[in-house]
Amino acid sequence: MQTAQYSALGEAARRFIAEKRRLLIDGQWVDAADGKTFAAIDPATEGEICQLAEAGPDDVDRAVKAARRAFEDSKWSRMRPADRERLLLKLADLVEANTDQLAGLESLDVGKPLFLARIIDVHGTVEFLRYMAGWATKVEGRTLDVSIGIPNAEFQAYTLRQPIGVVAQIIPWNFPLAMAAWKLAPALAVGCTAVLKPAEQTCLTALRLGELIQEAGFPAGVVNILTGPGETTGAALVAHPGIDKIAFTGSTGVGKLIGKSAMDSLKRVSLELGGKSPVIIAADADLDQAIQGAADAIFFNQGQVCTAGSRLYAEQSVFDRVVAGVADIAKSLKLGAGYAPDTQLGPLVSGEQMERVLHYIDTGRREGGEVVTGGARHGGQGYFVQPTVFTNCGPNATVLREEIFGPVLVASPYRSVDDIAALANDTSYGLAASIWSNNLSFVHRLTKRIKAGTVWVNCHNFVDPNLPFGGFKQSGLGRENGRDAIDLYTETKTVLMKI
Ligand code: ADP
Ligand code: MG
Repeated sequence: MQTAQYSALGEAARRFIAEKRRLLIDGQWVDAADGKTFAAIDPATEGEICQLAEAGPDDVDRAVKAARRAFEDSKWSRMRPADRERLLLKLADLVEANTDQLAGLESLDVGKPLFLARIIDVHGTVEFLRYMAGWATKVEGRTLDVSIGIPNAEFQAYTLRQPIGVVAQIIPWNFPLAMAAWKLAPALAVGCTAVLKPAEQTCLTALRLGELIQEAGFPAGVVNILTGPGETTGAALVAHPGIDKIAFTGSTGVGKLIGKSAMDSLKRVSLELGGKSPVIIAADADLDQAIQGAADAIFFNQGQVCTAGSRLYAEQSVFDRVVAGVADIAKSLKLGAGYAPDTQLGPLVSGEQMERVLHYIDTGRREGGEVVTGGARHGGQGYFVQPTVFTNCGPNATVLREEIFGPVLVASPYRSVDDIAALANDTSYGLAASIWSNNLSFVHRLTKRIKAGTVWVNCHNFVDPNLPFGGFKQSGLGRENGRDAIDLYTETKTVLMKI
């Protein structure tokens, strides 16, 4: 369904959605073997954007076999690291050259404001690809001394870091293009091959990226892209015996399923899962900055961010002021389609997600929480939910415990360092936290005690390609980005030589 309102997306984006989109297998764009398709949906209008091929088990099998052939093929495995780097840099240039189109597709498919799609999603992807390209030439092992050995014998020992092989990469719908890059770039940098499955809600930019990967000149089969539901396409991919490693970003529930399935054949697995990240505002903080920061921490991308600051803790003496400030910002946000001018907050990604978030809001009310602002669907068409702030939720309130993945904040007061350390850690998650304070002792004491993969101080949701990213506890397994991402896609081989 193409309507006049899509003019803001630009000609190139509209051209891309004018056709049914297919699967990328072994360098070819193909229909699903059984011809099945499903619809991409515009979350702002609930209308169909275009049809997408739905990969079944036969397609999964063909894609994994293509990735295996490409991995064993000397064209890829013996390619000079500098040439892999150049391919990734070429891809970055192509993504940059197609910024308008990719931002338009991302805004349409996810519902995010066009200007954010351009800066965060597309530009962030370009920077990420350029950063990761550099690692292709920096993979290194170590030389080691043998510790015991045998008398009168001499040894030489060293380690190699070698690509794991064929990786299955399953990504979520909140930052589709950026997540595709986070997964593909380090794997390709070290010489793995990949089968990528974007989330069924948001396939468009991954498919366009597939075209750009071909244009950049990656050999056929190095990257394969399959679209389809998690329960079928995703599950078939995870279970396929030809996969050496699974890299997954998504919900904790599915992450656990994937982890269990991976153990059947001891596939390597890395998981980037959910969160319930605390935002901690001390009375000494620059409050204007902290209030804006707390609002951004939860409302950015409609709260559909694994590191969303969904639990706000403000020191007792400033609690009322902080809550009123965040609520004022929530009320001022302009909701609309991502591609409409002036939109600050878009729709949620799907009807299912909207229902899930509205259900959490109802549960929060039923369990005694007080809605300071928001608390309902916005409008009758499109998956819009008002930015919502809760107070007075008990320590066991569902909205304080479970990841909502929507624009819903739960605010609570705290009294002391001990108090806030216990509150911050009173969760099964451990992805991130932010502390807003200028008191160095308070910040350092708390930073050490918080069980989370990232602690931000006087900022939130800042993710950098060079900084390790991942979760403590049920927020995941492994670290992405920086050198850690290289470790995720390589195996260590020990070489011991008697000389
Ligand atoms: P959400 O519930 O918010 O959609 P999911 O964790 O279900 O988050 O989705 C993240 C990714 O995992 C998506 O690409 C989805 O298709 C995929 N997925 C969902 N269920 C499974 C599964 N059982 N096996 C493999 N992949 C799955
Ligand atoms: Mg799901």
